[in-house]
Order: sequence, then structure tokens, then C-alpha cells
Amino acid sequence: MQHDANLTADRPSFVTHLECGLTGERYEADVVHGLSSAGRPLLARYDLPGVAAALTKEALAARPRDLWRWRELLPVRDKAHIVSLGENETPLIGLEATGERLAARAPLVKDEGRLPTGSFKARGLVMAISMARAFGIRTIAMPTNGNAGAAAAAYATRAGIESVILCPEDTPDINVREIAMQGGRVWRVNGLIDDCGAIVAAGAKANGWYDLSTLKEPYRIEGKKTMGLELAEQLGWELPDAIFYPTGGGTGLIGMWKAFDELEAIGFIGPKRPRMYAVQASGCAPIVRAFEAGERHAERWEDAHTVAAGIRVPKAVGDFLILDAVRASGGKALAVGDPAILRAVEAAAADGVLLCPEGGATLAAYEQALADGEVRRDEQVVLFNCATGLKYPMPDKSRHLDRHGDIDLTAL
Ligand SMILES: *Cc1c(COP(=O)(O)O)cnc(C)c1O
Repeated sequence: MQHDANLTADRPSFVTHLECGLTGERYEADVVHGLSSAGRPLLARYDLPGVAAALTKEALAARPRDLWRWRELLPVRDKAHIVSLGENETPLIGLEATGERLAARAPLVKDEGRLPTGSFKARGLVMAISMARAFGIRTIAMPTNGNAGAAAAAYATRAGIESVILCPEDTPDINVREIAMQGGRVWRVNGLIDDCGAIVAAGAKANGWYDLSTLKEPYRIEGKKTMGLELAEQLGWELPDAIFYPTGGGTGLIGMWKAFDELEAIGFIGPKRPRMYAVQASGCAPIVRAFEAGERHAERWEDAHTVAAGIRVPKAVGDFLILDAVRASGGKALAVGDPAILRAVEAAAADGVLLCPEGGATLAAYEQALADGEVRRDEQVVLFNCATGLKYPMPDKSRHLDRHGDIDLTAL
């Protein structure tokens, strides 16, 4: 992608160190890390006064509209390590018909299905794989519900890195095939994503694989946080009233919350924050259960099931970071059932938008929050659609036409 000015400009990263998300213990940047010694996620920290002095809104506005325009706030130091498939900015689409149906201000959908590999997992994996390349990693491994594995395989292959991808055996077929087509060695495992994660951890120890599990390496979250950076700029540096985020491992929600703090620290936004709503499926809602119980950590959810495969995560290593952000924002963790999710996907079609089931979950949760008076009808709300709806099974509603028979054209 050498044509892209964001990749070729001489703009260093301002990373200073990493920090344990739980204890604040400091770690050196630019060396390979997994979890902290407390077994918790590491977060990248930046010289924010330095960024404030180096970056203006005007300079930013003049750059090409992609993820790399935020380089000062990203961990990759040497542009030669960047592995890009063209990480474009994603649009905000107003659901006008839906707004009318609900007698509310039209909610905005941030449509992440437009990214390479068809999901926002590209944001996180382009960063993790670029860092893996900087570290000279030869093999990465990860557990996945589908979309992350596809993005990991695509970027790894492009970087000349091998990938070993483990997914639950009932992962949507299209994802499993996509991973293989992208050059990943893909295995179906008779278990859930955390069972796959345990095998990856064992392989990382035995074979020296670099473990790219959600929040077990520090850089996927740095890629995902660009959703928050982008959103702030797209809305004129004024954050919305509420964000509904389909929450599995929670990287995106935690990342956006971090992004808002960084933007405030460099003087781009004020202290106003959106209420963050972590949306889960009622068949797998560990974060909702912990939220309602007032806990800071979430117990594993047994027998997890939902049509929204991307948020079927029974246990999240960053549970406390999700719960802290949701509580600090004045938001909530909300669960919605599969029937409501599928109804929401159908309903959004009235706006010409094909949501993925996880995106449908955010619309279903928003409708419930409106009905409960949790969100006001005049508030500005952003829903995250994190993958293209085209990756998911769709009902066949076509009918057969015999071209040799009499065709009643008025009936078509
Ligand atoms: C992975 C995924 C999610 C959950 O994202 P996290 O940031 O890991 O919580 C939601 N929707 C889709 C489509 C996904 O692939």
C-alpha cells in the first residue's frame, strides 16, 4: 500500500510503555508480551502531551480517510512493518425508516462490514500482525468464533507469518472456509471459544506460537480503539449520547473508552462521554449477569448458545475493563434473545441495511432501552454493526418461475 500517504509519511508512534489493566504495573514497550504477571490485559500508553504538540485537527483532516491516519496514537513505530489490506474509514448510516417506526431520532449505524475481510476484526488484527512482524514472529495462533480468525489468517499470510486457527465446531461454515482460503491452518474443536483458547495457550507454550487471543496480546485493542477515534471525528468532535456495542471479548468497547480518554488528553474532545451499552445475547450473557450482580468480574457462562456467533464468549479475560467502562459511562449491560435479534435484522432491511446478527442485537437492545425509558427518543445513538450481513445464513424467500408456462406479470 505504498500509494497511501498515511503509511509513507514520517510520523513516529508515541508509545512509551505498557501497563497492566488491573494493577497498573509497568512493562517495557517494543518487546513481546502476553498477559501481565497478574494474568490480565496489558494496555499501551502514549506520550499524550507529545501527541498533542505534534497533531492538530487540521493536519488530521487533510490525511486520507483510513485507520493509519491515527498513527501517533498507534503502536507501530516503523512503517515498514505495517501490513495493510486498505483499512478504510467506515460510514455512519442513519436508519431513518427505523427512527420513524420507533418515533425516535434515527439511530446511526457504524457499518464495520466494509472493512477488509468483512468485519471490524480487521482493525485489531492489522495492528497485532504488524506488531508480530516487527517482533519477527513466525507463527501466530488464535481461538475464534470466525471473523477474527479470518482477519488473522489474511494479515498473517500477507506478512509471511503462519497461522493456526481453532474454532468451535459449529462456527458458521462460511467463516471456517474463509479462514482456510486466507491461508490459515484451521481446526474445528468440539467445544466453545474458551476451550479453543486453552489449546492455543498450550500450543503457545509447547510450540512457541504467538497467542493472539482477545486481550492476551496488547495490540488488537489498539487497532479496535480506532472505532472511537473515527466516531469522534465523524461527529464533529462531539460524542453521541449512547453507544450500543455487541460485546463478546469486549475489545471494541474497552478500546473506544480508552480512545475517548486519549482524545480528551490531547485536547480534541471535552469530558462528555456516551453511555456505553454492552449488548449480549440472552443465551450467553456473562457480562450482563455480573453487571446486575454488581460484580467486577464475570463467571463463565455455561451452555452458551446464540445465533450471534461473534458474541458467544462465555468468559472474557477483560471482563473488569468492560464492566468498569460501562459503569463509569452510566450505561448498562443488556441481554436480548435470539428471536428479537433476528426480528431486528429483518427490520433494519427497511433502511436498505443488511445487519449481521450481532448488529441486530444492538438494534434490538436499543428498542428495548427506548421502551424502558433508558434512552430518550431525542438522543443521538450509535449502533455497531461489526460484520457484513453477507457472511451469515439468510432465509430463502425466493419463489420459482417457469419460463415455459404462462407468466402472470401483474403477480410478480
Ligand atoms: C468479534 C465480534 C463481536 C464482538 O467483539 P468484541 O470486541 O470482541 O467484544 C461482535 N460482532 C461481530 C460480528 C464479531 O465478529
